Amino acid sequence: MANLRLMITLITVLVYLLPSFAKSSESTKVITLPKSLNLTLLTDPSTISTASHDYGNVTTVTPGGVLCPSSSAEIFRLLRYAANGETIFQVAARSQGHSLNGQASVSGGVVINMTCLADITVSEDKEYADVAGGTLWVDVLRETAEQGVSPVSWTDYLHISVGGTLSNAGIGGQMFRNGPQISNVLELDVITGKGETLACSPQLNPELFYGVLGGLGQFGIISRARIVLNHAPKRAKWFKMLYSDFTAFTKDQESLISMNNDTGVDYVEGQLLMSNGIVDTSFFPPSDQSKVADLVKNHSIIYVLEVAKYYDDPTVPTTVQVIDKLTKTLSYLSGFISMHDVSYFDFLNRVQVEEDKLRSLALWEVPHPWLNLYVPKTQILDFHNGVVKDILLKQNSTSGVALFYPTNRNKWDNRMSAMIPDEDIFYVVGLLQSASSQNVQEVESVNEAIIRFCKDSGIKIKQYLMHFTRKEDWVEHFGSKWGAFSKRKDLFDPKKLLSPGQDIF
Ligand code: FAD
Repeated sequence: MANLRLMITLITVLVYLLPSFAKSSESTKVITLPKSLNLTLLTDPSTISTASHDYGNVTTVTPGGVLCPSSSAEIFRLLRYAANGETIFQVAARSQGHSLNGQASVSGGVVINMTCLADITVSEDKEYADVAGGTLWVDVLRETAEQGVSPVSWTDYLHISVGGTLSNAGIGGQMFRNGPQISNVLELDVITGKGETLACSPQLNPELFYGVLGGLGQFGIISRARIVLNHAPKRAKWFKMLYSDFTAFTKDQESLISMNNDTGVDYVEGQLLMSNGIVDTSFFPPSDQSKVADLVKNHSIIYVLEVAKYYDDPTVPTTVQVIDKLTKTLSYLSGFISMHDVSYFDFLNRVQVEEDKLRSLALWEVPHPWLNLYVPKTQILDFHNGVVKDILLKQNSTSGVALFYPTNRNKWDNRMSAMIPDEDIFYVVGLLQSASSQNVQEVESVNEAIIRFCKDSGIKIKQYLMHFTRKEDWVEHFGSKWGAFSKRKDLFDPKKLLSPGQDIF
């Protein structure tokens, strides 16, 4: 996400070409709601067009109408009617539509524009915030930080919604310590596919609570989430260090994610810089940038360790000690370290800067054939050799950013719907490629080759933000949880009304 120049270079030539959408569904269905429901469905071409597309830019799925609810009661009325009324139509919650393959739309059905429901209330004791499902994380950050508190787990990008990330997992560089966003929710209000509004938590309606977290929108619409808060630090010391040796890189990453709060850092991620892509050196001072570029050219792959230590007062001994240790004991290439001292808000909102630049160049709304994988730690070297070296590095060019960092399984709760590998430590690998209408299929074929390689070599990956079109792939994805997942569907959405764009049922 951060490698702006890489993305720009590879797609500039193609920007004037409109994407040709690989999958499409045109809707002719007109949904007429009874007047007594007192709901207004928007059907104007501009609203329908927005709701038909998403960030992936490879699908067109056209709904019959869009509801912009003024309260959760409107969602309740719509779902109760859909569940019990004479006219059957499906329903998809859509927040920012930052999905990749039409997951937030519904052919011929009703899209609920969740961004119409955005609201944040911080509790008096500041231990949690009650947040409406369509609220953007960046607004949660603004509102809570103003009151000196903050959620503890973040995605890299904050212009995505609370309901949208809780339906997936909400992953990022803080989760090694605090777990993903789904691990930091105390309770939810959910409107189910049966048209019931239910509060749920680990104690109250636990089946619904755990089902919805990572549940891909299958069981109900999250209208409110109670999010855990903690102290909001004032600033962050944000480091990037370069490695040419994969084993040294992963050893340091794994050591960092095993440290506790006082002795460790607060955020750990990593990226790959490859010689067949354009290397973004902008984090380094101008005097070092050509050295970084040469390093990548000479080694073919350079590994970037990215960490942050939050602080309020830079003179507090623990902050000083952690940073001292970081710079002295890690095995990065001597001299290849750069530090930025930024506000907590700017650190968390760092991807926004890239988005603004890309938007100003009309390079944001291009096809994004992303592949997000979790890879077990014991197989990460095989993955690196087989995928990074033998597949990615052998392409004529790569585009976008490749994220690569480990995290801890013990911060996840197996009762939730989200799926992860069955090992204590696993890696997040995000191959976040940008494409054009001309090469999107080529990139998709590379993604398929990666998945095939993992299958053939027994690397037990799990996909994140995935889109399968075959039932057997979903069954394999959920593994031993498939039975529970299907039962929850029967229980909370027996008519299979919700989020059909996920293509599960
Ligand atoms: P949508 O795309 O609108 O919806 C996603 C799914 O959830 C759909 O199936 C929809 O029907 C359902 N849904 C939406 N709202 C609700 C609700 N209130 N209740 C029930 N179901 C609902 N993800 C990470 O985890 N970590 C990252 O660091 C990260 N970085 C990203 C960076 C960029 C630039 C982009 C575009 C995406 C990134 N994502 C990341 C992915 C993001 O989590 C997903 O796109 C996710 O779908 C949230 O986007 P959204 O809020 O627009 O939801």
